[in-house]
Amino acid sequence: MNNTYNKIIEIINKYDSFVITTHVNPDGDAIGSELALARLLKDLGKNVKIINHSATPDYLLFMLNYDKEILQFNPEEHLKLISNADVIFTLDLNSLNRTKSLENYIRESTAVKICIDHHEFPENFYSLSIIDTNSASTGELIYYLIKKFNLKLTYNYALPIYVAIVTDTGSFKYERTTPELHKIAAELLEAGVIPKEVHHNVYEQGSLNRIKLLGKTLNSLEVVGDNKIAYMVIRRKDLQETDSKEEDIEGFINYTLSIKDIEIGLLFFELKNGFKTSLRSSSKIPVNKLAAEFGGGGHFFAAGLRMNNINIDEGIKLIIPKAKEYLKKYL
Ligand code: 5GP
Ligand code: MN
Repeated sequence: MNNTYNKIIEIINKYDSFVITTHVNPDGDAIGSELALARLLKDLGKNVKIINHSATPDYLLFMLNYDKEILQFNPEEHLKLISNADVIFTLDLNSLNRTKSLENYIRESTAVKICIDHHEFPENFYSLSIIDTNSASTGELIYYLIKKFNLKLTYNYALPIYVAIVTDTGSFKYERTTPELHKIAAELLEAGVIPKEVHHNVYEQGSLNRIKLLGKTLNSLEVVGDNKIAYMVIRRKDLQETDSKEEDIEGFINYTLSIKDIEIGLLFFELKNGFKTSLRSSSKIPVNKLAAEFGGGGHFFAAGLRMNNINIDEGIKLIIPKAKEYLKKYL
């Protein structure tokens, strides 16, 4: 790993133009990691652009220093940036299809491609990868990179890294929350991060519409599989009726695991074409494997999948029986 950091440092020192991207529907770790890395490269005098398939969700915009710090990909405007880049970093993902509309352009580019991530089952594509599945967040890996440059950890880096860590650890409670991680957090606080302020920005700026959507979502909850599987369903009409957006569902799935004895929590979300499913495990079921049965992936305890050209009800009929099989297999 140390060796890979050194190689990445060599590449950063050698080249001038960099593009950073992340996965569709970016979360706090995705956006936080991108901002911290982009600011590092900028401070080193490099040309750097963050270009994502998705827009940045509203609840993460407070981290931005200026309006266009993150670009939403539009081939007409941004293709040149990608094809002219010396180096492309993809953060918080390791299978390139998660970059959606950027995928083919990245595949075709002659840039050095670097992956920094903490998910299992990487695609064999990159020139260089730091993939640490023991890390709670990608943000931590960017923290280590900044430290290796012997730069002072200023607020500019500390804020996005803190947001990355907080959002990917469920505010320091998931299993990969270690003493080491708290030591990093301590340093981020020393650099000026105020936890209450971050919490307020990330978790207390939701809309009334979002809470109305949460109400509908909780109403849809079903418990099956000997009371060990809880699932909820959100349809397009639920979004329309509450005037809410896809990003508003962030965090809803956690309610499934708040019920006693639930092993697997699922949230089915209807897309314009097909549906996506979020999967969570409370302890013993590797939901990334369950997701992989349907082309998805993720972590042991939190995974996701997307299926197109199949309607959500058919999808539920496919996935719930498979979840029941997993209960038998792993409990
Ligand atoms: P969420 O349910 O919060 O959208 O995603 C949980 C985790 O599952 C993510 O951190 C990511 O690792 C993984 N994940 C979500 N959606 C997909 C997907 O469509 N494909 C793959 N391979 N992984 C996904
Ligand atoms: Mn992450």
